[in-house]
Amino acid sequence: MQLIWLRSDLRIDDNTALSVATQRGPSMALWLASPGQWLAHDDAPCKVDFWLRNLRQLRRTLDALNIPLLIRQVDTWDEAPATLLAVCRQHAIEAVHWNDEYGINESRRDADTRTLLEASGIRAHSYLDQLFFRPGTILTRSGDYFQVFSQFKKVCLEHLHRSLPSLAARVKPQAALGIASDPIPQHIAGFDKPAQALSDHWPAGEDQAQARLARFVDETIVDYEQLRDLPAKPGTSQLSPYLAAGVISPRQCLHAALAGNHGEFDSGSRGVQTWVNELLWREFYKHILCGYPQVSRHRAFRAQTEALPWRDAPHDLQAWQEGRTGFPIIDAAMRQLLHTGWMHNRLRMVVAMFLTKNLLIDWRLGERHFMRHLIDGDLAANNGGWQWSASTGTDAVPYFRIFNPVSQSERFDPEARFIRHWVPELKQQDAKSIHLPVKSGDLFAGHHYPKPIVDLGSSRLRALEAFKRLPRRQEKP
Ligand code: FAD
Repeated sequence: MQLIWLRSDLRIDDNTALSVATQRGPSMALWLASPGQWLAHDDAPCKVDFWLRNLRQLRRTLDALNIPLLIRQVDTWDEAPATLLAVCRQHAIEAVHWNDEYGINESRRDADTRTLLEASGIRAHSYLDQLFFRPGTILTRSGDYFQVFSQFKKVCLEHLHRSLPSLAARVKPQAALGIASDPIPQHIAGFDKPAQALSDHWPAGEDQAQARLARFVDETIVDYEQLRDLPAKPGTSQLSPYLAAGVISPRQCLHAALAGNHGEFDSGSRGVQTWVNELLWREFYKHILCGYPQVSRHRAFRAQTEALPWRDAPHDLQAWQEGRTGFPIIDAAMRQLLHTGWMHNRLRMVVAMFLTKNLLIDWRLGERHFMRHLIDGDLAANNGGWQWSASTGTDAVPYFRIFNPVSQSERFDPEARFIRHWVPELKQQDAKSIHLPVKSGDLFAGHHYPKPIVDLGSSRLRALEAFKRLPRRQEKP
């Protein structure tokens, strides 16, 4: 009997471990709930709920294939190896199959599990599945992990040109095993159920993810380059929660995008090229996580930026978290996060820069708030995005290029449709003044809208000064 250990790969199609295991012989699947670990990782309740909802869909498909799905609960991953071994003994498992996950705790969990299983005569097989390339295979000439995205991307594209990663073989139904699947928990203690509207925004299941991909490729990708920066328009795929939970694979995304562009990466549709670029940013940050594991421990990639004099300003932090800064675009974005578990990429950069530069608050506090609310929360992408915005990261924005939230708002939400949706207090404001902070803290539509919590000009200078005073020497990470 083969066992597939499902983790962030909650799908049947193009799932490497599942595909290989089922080709070897009769198979069953296992999923571990580990609430203590998730709390330690700041995983958002809406993300945990999304996993459970996807598991419910997955179980139906597994049932149809006669693959039983077992559910076990541990507190932290320290208990994972023994739990796996117990399941293996109970069901006379010969080999366990899983798709690799990246991050220090994930790697340690898998190494410990492998050691225990192999010591007990059970084989452990792990597969590349979440990425196009195994971390450690895309390196500079001197054998180091890339630190600059454009160089990393160039090498990736050369490889992809030579051979496109192929999809895993389709899983076929097996004979019934007579082993019952476990019920999927409705709820896990410690993680509140999100509002119905949030769940409705992110329907679970592979079919939903595939339909989203197909719609995006058919209708939007051609204009992606123009639309991707406009938060009021559905100009991006909104596939990130599905990619993070593995409800869809990056290979499926790549194949679908290229199919609409005659298989070309660097000619034809600019929209397709730009979107493939984003899939490679995803790839880049996961490679960074492996090559520079200090980022997995929340250390700055550029060690000298650890000396920045971050402000201890709990009231400012709270106003930012709750969307009450007095800057309409910032507040609109932060409210979008709280209500939908997602935020548009342009605005993630704008609010992150506002927190770390204008408020001079440690990027780690923003990173944690995002993680606690994002349905697509992913350590590598989130850490990468925060360190990029804070100018503490690899290939980060230079510290002196500080976005002005008002001009970003005028440029990317020109008709203020996004602001009007999320900050209804300001609905009646005209299209020009709606982008500006309100000086008086007046009543709008019967609601009080806060005064700006910071002066953009002087706070910008404060940030520039703080960065200028850092030691010049770039220490090796
Ligand atoms: P699309 O524009 O359709 O892009 C397709 C896919 O490419 C995305 O689904 C995502 O998987 C990947 N992608 C796109 N942009 C990036 C990027 N800059 N870095 C890494 N992958 C990318 N993305 C997450 O998936 N999880 C996070 O926790 C996360 N935190 C972020 C925090 C900050 C401060 C910033 C600036 C960015 C963060 N991102 C994160 C990246 C990006 O904002 C989201 O991936 C994107 O907004 C998701 O929307 P989409 O699926 O419509 O993207």
